[in-house]
Amino acid sequence: MSINEKSLLSDFTRFYLLVLLYENPNHGYGLRVKFEERLGKNISFSLIYPFLSKLEAKGYVSIERKLIGHKEKKIYHLTEAGKKFAENMFQRFSGIIDTAIESNIQICAGCGIKLYQNSYQEIINGKKYSFCCRHCAAAFKNNEVHKHNH
Ligand SMILES: [Zn+2]
Repeated sequence: MSINEKSLLSDFTRFYLLVLLYENPNHGYGLRVKFEERLGKNISFSLIYPFLSKLEAKGYVSIERKLIGHKEKKIYHLTEAGKKFAENMFQRFSGIIDTAIESNIQICAGCGIKLYQNSYQEIINGKKYSFCCRHCAAAFKNNEVHKHNH
């Protein structure tokens, strides 16, 4: 794995930790368990705790000490500022994803409907077009042939 891929992935990991904290306050171990359950991927405490410290330094999380079993655990809560920060990140992320999906959506050359799944493709006058169905393709082809004959 290249250095860039590694840092990209760890950025995603941090992002997902933020998602989990936004859902519920949790301790480091709980975050790790949830992360691994959801993504089926291992996550190291050496990534979790420095990230939580950073969030704390920024005032994005507050820590509550709770006795769980015999151990005192630090429960991390997102503060109001932390929630705002998270919502900001989610919005930015969903914007990026929407753009990526939109750019992959094709439009039927016949009727203009969005083609989310399989499209019917035909080459007309040397150009490839996508259609929602054969009927749109036929209508479009008729129209094109008509145009070219004049
Ligand atoms: Zn169509």
